[in-house]
Amino acid sequence: MAVSHHRLILHPRDPFFVPETTAVLEGLREIGFVGPALDACRYRVGSRFMEWVSFLGCSPWLRLEPDAQQTPFTHIHVPHQTPVPILIAGDNVKPPRCPHCRKGFMAPGRPPRPPPDPTAVSRCASCGTPAPWSALDWRRSACVARWRLEVTEIHEAEAVPTPGLLDRLAALSAGRPWGYCYVQTRKG
Ligand SMILES: [Zn+2]
Repeated sequence: MAVSHHRLILHPRDPFFVPETTAVLEGLREIGFVGPALDACRYRVGSRFMEWVSFLGCSPWLRLEPDAQQTPFTHIHVPHQTPVPILIAGDNVKPPRCPHCRKGFMAPGRPPRPPPDPTAVSRCASCGTPAPWSALDWRRSACVARWRLEVTEIHEAEAVPTPGLLDRLAALSAGRPWGYCYVQTRKG
């Protein structure tokens, strides 16, 4: 299956938390967000998918069906959980803001290079307060997680998950809050 270059990522805010995948998928199937399986970890979007995502700007045109040419199309991908939290970021990653002073966490001009453990504490270049990368404000361009759900072929800030979808995900994971971000990777 073709690699997707623009993805909306939904993830638990607790970087260590891994929800019960079957329960989450079953709950999202019940509300029509997730549809039939394409393979072991990919699913078509459900019949009510467009009700759970708000599209910004003009009405969207999404390709929702696979074709013989393997054209990328919007579907739901559940990657395998990772043993430890990892930074999930692509070419669109933005300099993160410090959760304390709200200024740049890294010195200007320094590209974010993930530490081996993104939950380990480092110091803010602006105010000196220590914080882990998992607690930084990535401005919706990255996250730190062990488990995530990806909606493919959604461009950055083109579509926003509704509060109802985030509430549903929280309800399916014992009340834990969820976040989202957009990750873009270059072709080739
Ligand atoms: Zn700071």
